[in-house]
Amino acid sequence: MLKEPPFLGGDFVGQSKGFEIIIASHYGMCFGVRDAITLAEKRAKSAKLTILGELVHNEVVREKMRSLGIREGDLFGTRASTREVLVTAHGASDQEKLRWEKMGYDLKDSTCPLVRKAHDSLASLVAGGYFPVVIGKKEHAEVRGLTGDFPDARVIEGMEDLKTLPIMPKYGVVSQTTQLIDRVRCLVSAMEEQFPESEVCFRDTVCQPTKNRQRALGELLGKCDLIVVVGGQNSNNSRELVKSARRAGVDSLLISQAGELSREKVCGRERIGVTAGTSTQKACVEKVVQAMEQLGGKCRRL
Ligand code: SF4
Repeated sequence: MLKEPPFLGGDFVGQSKGFEIIIASHYGMCFGVRDAITLAEKRAKSAKLTILGELVHNEVVREKMRSLGIREGDLFGTRASTREVLVTAHGASDQEKLRWEKMGYDLKDSTCPLVRKAHDSLASLVAGGYFPVVIGKKEHAEVRGLTGDFPDARVIEGMEDLKTLPIMPKYGVVSQTTQLIDRVRCLVSAMEEQFPESEVCFRDTVCQPTKNRQRALGELLGKCDLIVVVGGQNSNNSRELVKSARRAGVDSLLISQAGELSREKVCGRERIGVTAGTSTQKACVEKVVQAMEQLGGKCRRL
């Protein structure tokens, strides 16, 4: 008797021809996110815990945290429902941390060491008389943490924001850790052109795991006709991977889990590259690859 193939969601468009799946040489969860999850799980065993923000921009992980009884609160709010609160891997300004401690909360901190490095770089630039500039997403928790102790700091998301910068003799520039390094360098060069009389001191704070994933994506682009990025819709570095692929003229999809794949999405593709942002667990990527194999894919790793 013929066995019915598993239903993988989406409309059935016809059996897709076989395609190749190529997995990026670097993908998925970084040490900073992994350590933050480990700390949250450990703390939750001995105390009721509220995470101040999204621990990671990944719905699968957030759901697991909820299943352990861990609550989510607002870093910029005024109360949490547990005495113990946790700063996420994205970090927070000293001012915010102090505010929670002064309100009587027991503050634990899972800030990634590479986010701390970005904080230290900006602080040392400001101490050296440089005007603080952060390249990144204005509303992102990490960027708000970086600028929180420096009320004058300006955030640059794109070229149009450069026009809003005041003329200063010295600019100290850092970047959100998950920005695309080539884009960051482009913005720094544009600043140098816009202010030829000023000194622009740039400290590269894009983290190595992000750079590794961006470089690994570059290796896939010339070989694939579709890139599947596994990651949350709120994950900056996952979205950056999607944008990089599209800028290079390669179709790209952002999915958070295997259930979002369908035959329709892979139909007619010859070679599909798979990568994942730094907040995505490898097990989640494995499930996506298995789902693609069920749709006719044959996997090879770079
Ligand atoms: S993406 Fe980079 S900075 Fe952010 S948690 Fe991971 S290693 Fe740390």
